[in-house]
Amino acid sequence: MDERKVFKPLEIKIPDQESERFPERHREGPRFAGSQTDIRQKHRSFLTGFTLIELLVVIAIIAVLMAILMPALNKAREQGQRIVCKSNLKNYVLATQMYTDDNDDRFCNPQSCYFSQTAPYPVESGLSSPIHLRWCNGDLYLKNHPQYAGPFYPYLQNVKAFICPTFARIATRASQDHFYQADAGNIKNYKPWYNYTMNAYLGSPSDGVKKSSVRKLSEVKHLAETFCFTEESALVDTRYNVSGLNDTYMIPGSDSMVEGWLNQAGSYRLIKPGPEGVGAFWDVIGGFHYAPSQDPLRGKGNCAFLDGHVDAHTRAETFPLAWPR
Ligand SMILES: [Zn+2]
Repeated sequence: MDERKVFKPLEIKIPDQESERFPERHREGPRFAGSQTDIRQKHRSFLTGFTLIELLVVIAIIAVLMAILMPALNKAREQGQRIVCKSNLKNYVLATQMYTDDNDDRFCNPQSCYFSQTAPYPVESGLSSPIHLRWCNGDLYLKNHPQYAGPFYPYLQNVKAFICPTFARIATRASQDHFYQADAGNIKNYKPWYNYTMNAYLGSPSDGVKKSSVRKLSEVKHLAETFCFTEESALVDTRYNVSGLNDTYMIPGSDSMVEGWLNQAGSYRLIKPGPEGVGAFWDVIGGFHYAPSQDPLRGKGNCAFLDGHVDAHTRAETFPLAWPR
């Protein structure tokens, strides 16, 4: 007879009936002697629940596994966000190229590339420096208020994300921009919604950068080495940058600062901000991608270059990559 056909669950029969049901097991000696009773006793603690010690051991093991896995999971998330960020920036290069095509090779004014004017809008009434707060003013999200949009908006309106997902996470926690901090109490709907800013040395009509900037795409000497949009750091470390993200244009320094740097360093390729460089810049490239843990300033930011490629760079490279001449 096939043993499998006569199998029955262990716990439903009384032990002293076992020898009658399986006489062949008992014939074989001590291997199965008293087996059902023993098994039931062994499983009693399982059937009646865990002890406190067992529960604590399980919790401790889960905690150790979490501690091992979390850094790997954070790294995977940041890698995914970096790819989204680069793909966002690709659209900004395309927008820049289309804009210059449609406008006689001229760049758009970086100060109004997103917003149609520099004076306060009605929703900004009561703010002392409205322009500086547009990046985090959820009431000015251009998808809801296209009437405030600047010349780039027709080229970017299909772009789903204006903002790097990594930046959105960091800026919400720890923006240190002093302009923002000065007016933070007046922001009603805090929601950072962009962090890509245009190279101010491309197309800015401002008197302060007249000598440093160029007005036309054809005047840029090295297209593959000059970014048109990058992600700006909102975090301030005054040894490197005196300001953070507070408008739509990225300006390392004024004409007089640039002249001073060039005299000091000899070549624009050698000009770096901070203690190891020529001095503090106004704005620098963000450092939150590829950053060592606990220091979102020491990594890299993505830059979209005028030849169409997107690449990550450190804040030390800010000026060589912004200088179009
Ligand atoms: Zn990014």
